[in-house]
Amino acid sequence: MSTAFDQARKVMPGGVSSPVRAFGSVGGSPVFIQEAKGAYVTSIENRQYVDLVGSWGPALLGHAHPDVVQAVVEAAGRGLSFGAPTLGETELATLIGQRVGGIDKVRFTSTGTEAVMSAVRLARGFTGRDLIIKFAGCYHGHSDALLAAAGSGVATAGLPGSAGVTAGAAHDTLVLPYNDLEALHAAFDHHGTSIAAVVTEAAAANMGIVPPLPGFNAAIRELTRAHGALMILDEVLTGFRVSPAGWWGLEGRTEGWTPDLYTFGKVTGGGLPLAALAGPAGIMDLLAPLGPVYQAGTLSGNPLAVAAGLSTLRLADDAAYARIDSFADHLETIVSQRLNAAGVPHRVQRAGSLLSIFWGESPAAAPVLTYDDALRQDTALFAHFFHSMLDQSVLLPPSAFEAWFISAAHGDKELEFLDAALAKAAASVGTGQSAH
Ligand SMILES: *Cc1c(COP(=O)(O)O)cnc(C)c1O
Repeated sequence: MSTAFDQARKVMPGGVSSPVRAFGSVGGSPVFIQEAKGAYVTSIENRQYVDLVGSWGPALLGHAHPDVVQAVVEAAGRGLSFGAPTLGETELATLIGQRVGGIDKVRFTSTGTEAVMSAVRLARGFTGRDLIIKFAGCYHGHSDALLAAAGSGVATAGLPGSAGVTAGAAHDTLVLPYNDLEALHAAFDHHGTSIAAVVTEAAAANMGIVPPLPGFNAAIRELTRAHGALMILDEVLTGFRVSPAGWWGLEGRTEGWTPDLYTFGKVTGGGLPLAALAGPAGIMDLLAPLGPVYQAGTLSGNPLAVAAGLSTLRLADDAAYARIDSFADHLETIVSQRLNAAGVPHRVQRAGSLLSIFWGESPAAAPVLTYDDALRQDTALFAHFFHSMLDQSVLLPPSAFEAWFISAAHGDKELEFLDAALAKAAASVGTGQSAH
């Protein structure tokens, strides 16, 4: 164990501020980061890594894009936080409404957790109903109601949920299998008049990448509308990442539907703590101060975070998304080539530019459609692969259940580097396997 990690663990649970960072599922000590630039992070030992963590999503343009940093520095020069409205918030809310369909109004929060938690409260306030439907393997932050069968760190740690969640909170959340319309129909048949909302990741990306089957999101839209429930499309991860208008831009726009509420985060704040819930005025105006649904935050709409978000979204043009899409295509190709050549059973899954690998015979045999499918992967294979990549200076998300995050700063040079690393890592996993 590194001394830095030893010292951190003395003063912080697990040595980290968020669980997956602790390398628990892959073993070893986390890389402590000193600085990051473009597609690279540099450790406190001064070692440079090609970074595919991307701060778990926000770093769409790569780390420390000069224009974003300059916008934040200028904002900091004007003061760090006022607890009063600023012009930047209006601008960012306007920009979000221009990019994504069905949005009149936006409420800013600091984290995705707060955004989804508030959207759920708003849905309950709007409908006067209690029940929430979520899908197993989807992650919506760490609020009580949404931790049951959650993805992300809860999946990585192999937990069914969390201690400290009351039976009441768990009771009000129905957990259904992802991509299972029959189960959804059955839930509405039984509980239709009590369901306040269905909350779903626009494309599931916290149990590995599990895209919605064609028609799944549209069916959620139809069913919720038919039963007077709201559809909350959680785009905290996909929003402004997989297209200028997030996953909705790839699906809802073409199919002609919008959810009742969206949640955004990650890219929206460009690397600073900023998230949002958004939707039509008829629902959003139920929020305080106009309506009875209370929601607030001392640092909500923080001027530095808004400056970073505005600057990031303005720079995230079609060319940036095209670069990221093309890199993802190439990365998928070389990953598959190298793993196939080494005889490592796997399946790459995609949702737009998001990509993850499922490991082992089970996912190799059939696409991963549900959380149960995702759990059937061989996480030990990934741990081996992860450390081989790390030894070769590639930092992957330290969990088999997380997407690999690409930025517009990743290019041909990084692809070449990754290809060489992949060849060695695949070979070492392949050998490890046959020796088993
Ligand atoms: C990351 C994430 C959240 C939670 O956001 P935080 O900012 O970590 O609280 C919620 N929903 C989805 C889909 C996410 O990926």
